[in-house]
Amino acid sequence: MSLLLRGGLVVTQDEKRRVVSGDVLLDDERIVAVGDIDRSAENVIDCSGCAVLPGFINLHQHVANTLLRGVADDVPLEEMLPKASAIDAKLTRRDVQIGALLGCVEMIRSGTTSFHDLFYWEDEVARAVRESGMRGFLSWVTLDEAFTTQHGSPLKNADAFVAKQKDDPLVTPSVGVQGVYVASEETYAKAKEIADRRDVRLHTHLSETRGEVEAHRKKTGLRPVEWLEKIGFLGERVTAAHCTWITMNEVRALARCGVSVAHCPVSNMKLASGGVAPVPEMLEAGVIVGLGTDSPISNNGMDVFADMKIAALLHKSTRWDARIMPAQTVLDLATIHAARALHVEREIGSIEVGKRADLAVVSLKGAHTTPFYPESVIRHLVYSGRGSDVQATIVDGKVLMAGGVVRTVDESDVIARAQETARELFEA
Ligand SMILES: [Zn+2]
Repeated sequence: MSLLLRGGLVVTQDEKRRVVSGDVLLDDERIVAVGDIDRSAENVIDCSGCAVLPGFINLHQHVANTLLRGVADDVPLEEMLPKASAIDAKLTRRDVQIGALLGCVEMIRSGTTSFHDLFYWEDEVARAVRESGMRGFLSWVTLDEAFTTQHGSPLKNADAFVAKQKDDPLVTPSVGVQGVYVASEETYAKAKEIADRRDVRLHTHLSETRGEVEAHRKKTGLRPVEWLEKIGFLGERVTAAHCTWITMNEVRALARCGVSVAHCPVSNMKLASGGVAPVPEMLEAGVIVGLGTDSPISNNGMDVFADMKIAALLHKSTRWDARIMPAQTVLDLATIHAARALHVEREIGSIEVGKRADLAVVSLKGAHTTPFYPESVIRHLVYSGRGSDVQATIVDGKVLMAGGVVRTVDESDVIARAQETARELFEA
């Protein structure tokens, strides 16, 4: 089926970062033309007064935790994790599925088309992904059995999950590891063995807090990045979330090993992790960095517009340098760089002929985005844009939302079921 996005300001995020006034034509799941298009299509979306963007790729997320939104505010990570685990232990498969579906609706509403998730029961998240029409890069989390709330062995569960999810353009399975504080050398080695054998990616938390880094140094004599390099875990398959407390030597190790990083500034700030991830240094060293919202417990939303603005401001503010982390760089983190981080930049992350059609149509007609000029559109999106400006969200050529109405799922039903599920969880 063909679809024409007519008369928008197309923020391509291509190699030259061109912004083009014109149209985007889709044929089934692919982009087939960009620019002035003199062809009709079966369906047309009027994009006048709107920017057309590649959909955001949220590079680190725990989507089912929408149900835990607000349960551990105003406390540090060390207090948040036990609260989260206590509720985690009570979650059923059905809870995870409804939590994931709620998160998918929230992301569709705010222009995110792909997300990189770290959780257990990822088969339930996969079900929500398929129902909502989003694209999920889903990592089944592993950790030492002594620490897990999962039923059965986390490593066996991850292996079985990866084996089952095959040949689905919307679901890409991978293996996760929670972090060095709950995963031994053996767990990391076995997770890597599964990923190598199944030819899938790895996803882990890394050097999020000073406490984690210091405890690991006391235990092993090495900082987490150094230790993971020594045990042979680091490599091009790995995306590491946070990397807040890392030295320049560790930045170079990440670059040397081809590890990509999910920067999660809102989560780090809310949990008062204290450090600021050295993102400008990582980019300078050649580390691929994308942007993640992290869990709805520690953010509390999934509006990538908000996180782009905060990412820019955090680095400017702490370095007393207004020029650092400009809007274009931040938009890159949320789109094409995140695609590169997952090694899918040939398929998604920019608006180019031949790529999969994952797009967001964003109104620039609001009071808070007026006046706008074509030359300021990227700065407008980063500093003034809001998730609620998104008019349409498209994944693989399928319209998931248009005119502000989610089409793939019944939004009010999802919200009602999530509210009821959360009430049962907290009453029990
Ligand atoms: Zn996380």
